[in-house]
Amino acid sequence: MATDYYAVLGIERGASESDIKAAYRGLARKFHPDVAEDKSAAETRFKEINEAYEVLGDPQKRQQYDRYGAVPSGAGGGAGGFGGFGGGEGFSDIFDMFFGGGAAGQQQQRRPSGPARGSDLRYDLQITLEEAYRGAEREISFNHLGQCQPCNGSGAKPGTLVSRCDRCQGSGVTRNVRQTPLGQFVSQTTCARCGGEGTIIPTPCETCRGRGRVERTRSLTVKIPAGVDDGSRIRVAGSGEGGARGGPAGDLYVYLGIAHHDRLRRDGLDLYTDVPISFAQAALGSSVDVETFDGELPLQIAPGTQPGATYRIRGKGMPQVRGSGKGDLLVTVHVTVPTKLSRRERELLEELARIGNDHADDKRFFDRVKDAFSP
Ligand SMILES: [Zn+2]
Ligand SMILES: [Zn+2]
Repeated sequence: MATDYYAVLGIERGASESDIKAAYRGLARKFHPDVAEDKSAAETRFKEINEAYEVLGDPQKRQQYDRYGAVPSGAGGGAGGFGGFGGGEGFSDIFDMFFGGGAAGQQQQRRPSGPARGSDLRYDLQITLEEAYRGAEREISFNHLGQCQPCNGSGAKPGTLVSRCDRCQGSGVTRNVRQTPLGQFVSQTTCARCGGEGTIIPTPCETCRGRGRVERTRSLTVKIPAGVDDGSRIRVAGSGEGGARGGPAGDLYVYLGIAHHDRLRRDGLDLYTDVPISFAQAALGSSVDVETFDGELPLQIAPGTQPGATYRIRGKGMPQVRGSGKGDLLVTVHVTVPTKLSRRERELLEELARIGNDHADDKRFFDRVKDAFSP
């Protein structure tokens, strides 16, 4: 007689999909062998729960089960270890609940018998806009877990050996095959004896207490390519945390932040700056010096330039990280109004004002100014 899956999950036959999911999650949490008190009882119960959910959680299989009281084996799962709980639900979901997403991903990705790869590290580095423009080399130092020297990362006391786990025969996982009226179910769990490593250390190294890694300060020089932007990251392969028991090291990611610059702002490849000029320079035209990262650059201000007018200087912006070529430098003109005047200046401006009044509504005057300004 087949198991009553509804009874296993403690739900009514007419339960909705979300009820089924909620019941399953609740039970899986309670009977997960990693958290339950009585491990062997929990393991059996956990398998039953998964079996039931494997069928009831899948609308198609549930329909078949409701109709025939059974689901044919091989109908999209049931005999494939972790994969048997397909359909986006199942083990990955449970691992998410217990260990948090990131850890689950890593646990499933690594080969069960291989030593785990070390974690990636993040280092935030503030650089100036000029460093981003030219490229730079910066020395950074940080703490990380490096390989333990006395044991070479093995975790075993020097002179002693690491031995193969006898419970899982070195595979890191224990498999359990069950024949049921509905077909064969295989479940696979991390070996409880070796924690999935496949090896055990009879005599741990005294320096690292068997971890194979020790906390250490590390310095290295980071090469920052010209053209990087705020939020760019540089990967330094193999400079993250060392792997447990001699596993490969993770990577170091250097995240760049670009400090505010007094004169120059950046938007993509273009740089923006402001130049103050006097009313006379704006009206008569003039040459001004504009600050760039390659020194000062003369800029011709056309006669009749209006406040807020922008000049584009090609090829004086930020370099591209990959490939050649640079953005542009956009220079916005600000016409400054003097706050203090000498007597002579006052006289001249008053005279100008008298003549200038004639121009105030002279449309042709503004047209001339506009023509002169067009760069
Ligand atoms: Zn084992
Ligand atoms: Zn050690």
